[in-house]
Amino acid sequence: MADLSNPAVVRALLARHRLHLKKGLGQNFLINPGVCPRMAEAAGAGPGVGALEIGPGIGVLTTELARRCDKVVAVELDQSLAPALEETLKDYSNVEIVWGDFLKLDLKELLAKFGDLPVIVCANLPYYITTPILMRLLESRLPLESVTVLLQKETAQRICAELPSRQAGAITAAIAWYTKPELLFVVSKGSFLPPPKVDSAVVRLTLRKEPPVPVKDEAMLFRVMRGAFAQRRKTMLNGLSAALNLPKEQMAALLEQAQVDPGARAEQLDLAAFARISDQLSLLGHE
Ligand code: SAM
Repeated sequence: MADLSNPAVVRALLARHRLHLKKGLGQNFLINPGVCPRMAEAAGAGPGVGALEIGPGIGVLTTELARRCDKVVAVELDQSLAPALEETLKDYSNVEIVWGDFLKLDLKELLAKFGDLPVIVCANLPYYITTPILMRLLESRLPLESVTVLLQKETAQRICAELPSRQAGAITAAIAWYTKPELLFVVSKGSFLPPPKVDSAVVRLTLRKEPPVPVKDEAMLFRVMRGAFAQRRKTMLNGLSAALNLPKEQMAALLEQAQVDPGARAEQLDLAAFARISDQLSLLGHE
């Protein structure tokens, strides 16, 4: 079996299939032998489990998942990788490659391929669409156990930041709403071919079965969180009245009802405070 974490093996495979890595598709392939087995284990790969991978590349993580799980479905956009993947996955009959843009596929249809198996997501994500992929996975409310992904270290830190904290942003709040995030380990840029400009990290998002706090209207809550963080230096009063198009006097009264300091910044609020603001807006019938 070819050692896909050996750069010489990878280069030979790419040359044999006349492949050139496409920077625009975020093709930085993992060549550190320690990373993929560790990711697969941390993701909960094992017997009786199905794994969904986004961007298998030449299959270095795919084979680790296939070795452990009952079934792997891997979505890849770049069809020119087909002959290389055929070669690297020839010993694994439990892998199905779905060709297409993950952001455009019908995810319910994709999940149906696993039948009754509990499903984990495990992937080294293309960095240019990390956030859209994560938000699509979570907003679709798929019956997933967890999402374990490799992404840029700075994004990983932002996603896993405490709420409230200086590091928190709209993505921190959104991820905390759907999941319990953990930053597991850092992966240096030298672990990839070609090396990206920055280090990476693996995060595991364990999906919540229930929302962390009750809220009347989830869509409104997300408008509030996005609006609050959009101009993070502004106070809640100024930032939110602009973002939600409400007169300041009305917003001041609303924040008082929600027991939120109008002079606070978004980074000082927790999910419960955002939910209280959202509920007050719902009571007001705000569109
Ligand atoms: N899993 C491999 C590894 O760890 O070496 C490759 C990871 S590489 C960072 C990201 C992969 O995602 C590439 O193979 C790229 O072609 C693929 N990709 C990029 N955009 C995609 C999209 N919209 N949908 C599915 N796959 C995509």
